[in-house]
Amino acid sequence: MTHAPLAAEFIRDKERTHWHDNTLWFVRSKRDKAARTLPEWELLRETAAQIKAHTMSRLADYLEQFEAQATKLGAVVHWAKDAAEHNEIVYGILRDHDVKKLVKSKSMFTEECHLNPYLERHGIEVVDTDLGERIVQLAQEPPSHIVLPAIHYKKEDVGALFHKHLGTDAGASDPGYLAEAARGHLRDRFMSADAGLTGVNFAIAETGGFVVCTNEGNADLGASLPKLHIACMGFEKLIPRVNDLSVFLRLLARSATGQPITTYSSHFHGPIAGGELHIVIVDNGRTRLLESDDFRRSLNCIRCGACMNTCPVYRRSGGHSYEATVPGPIGSILSPAGDAKKHASLPFACSLCGSCSDVCPVKIDIHHQLLTWRKEIAQRGLLPRSKTWSMKLVSRLFQSPRLYRAAGYLARRIMPHVPRFLLYNRFNAWGKQRELPEFPRDSFRDRFRKHQENRNGHGK
Ligand code: SF4
Repeated sequence: MTHAPLAAEFIRDKERTHWHDNTLWFVRSKRDKAARTLPEWELLRETAAQIKAHTMSRLADYLEQFEAQATKLGAVVHWAKDAAEHNEIVYGILRDHDVKKLVKSKSMFTEECHLNPYLERHGIEVVDTDLGERIVQLAQEPPSHIVLPAIHYKKEDVGALFHKHLGTDAGASDPGYLAEAARGHLRDRFMSADAGLTGVNFAIAETGGFVVCTNEGNADLGASLPKLHIACMGFEKLIPRVNDLSVFLRLLARSATGQPITTYSSHFHGPIAGGELHIVIVDNGRTRLLESDDFRRSLNCIRCGACMNTCPVYRRSGGHSYEATVPGPIGSILSPAGDAKKHASLPFACSLCGSCSDVCPVKIDIHHQLLTWRKEIAQRGLLPRSKTWSMKLVSRLFQSPRLYRAAGYLARRIMPHVPRFLLYNRFNAWGKQRELPEFPRDSFRDRFRKHQENRNGHGK
């Protein structure tokens, strides 16, 4: 399905749409306040953008350096070209260690690879331990936001879900009570897990270590209670030096939720005593982006979600309407890179207001890239026929002054007399929430000419 009908489904519930819009705007406002507390904010953004651009220009070298350093620390590094290979590698490690229960933390990347259903098909119980991710997992839904996966859920919805799955009191919606119930439920899962899997926020080439940022401390538990830790990452998570980390850590949490820093920034350097650490580094279409002058900068994304929180389309259409692991503005660049045909509608789910580019902590020119995607999709012949023909017609009209004048004349004469039901009906989606302006008697050209004649007449 394309974005528009799924968005239409979401906005059918008007109250929820307003609530979703306001909640995300609240997060965006917190981000603004947090950014303003740092006079050097713009300098930080510029520095981050330059570090990322430099890293991408020497990515192969930094990846090799990271592998060498991580191996020295005792980790095993695996390489996967796509999601399928990634899943096979992870399953292979789990099978070799006879793992039956896996706790997962902070890994939107494994969502991209659809790891959960793959492992469950192989008889492994997977539990997402981030509260938001656990909520959507219990609801058997994908996350609708990369930082706030269950942002489309009100506390009453969570109460109903926990009552059904965790046995909490019927009708309970107190966040403290629900969080406590989730904590107890997850504690059991942590204690009985055979292995822990985490994502990676930043992997450091210089040291071979990596950092995972969470607010719940679940990555620490998942990676240190069981003896086996698997960390999965797309190769763009790399940064060159430890010193670079401070730049990104200061930007990430402020951009995401307006916090000065995430509650836990957990550093991992090799396996825990007597344990094993496996790091899986995955391409999954990223090389194609890296090779593209137009879209390479989208790989700089640190997944803060700020572009989603500010996007007027995302806020009003909900994350699920994008049908992608990464929704919103940046997702509308990344998804067509993976499957342009399936996601051809996403670059058009954008008002081109540029707010996403303004808030992006690594200065990705998001709305410019979305515009480039529109051209690309048109050139690949992936536009719906109705759009192709109407655009051709409009282009023909704009190219011919005579045709343009004639069309304007006819519209001014005819449109005011057309019965309303012919203009505003189910075939005219544009007219559902808009009124046409009043049509003037004369064209701008006529009025300008008259104005000039009057002026000249007065001048005589
Ligand atoms: S594109 Fe920029 S604003 Fe959007 S999630 Fe990535 S880093 Fe954050």
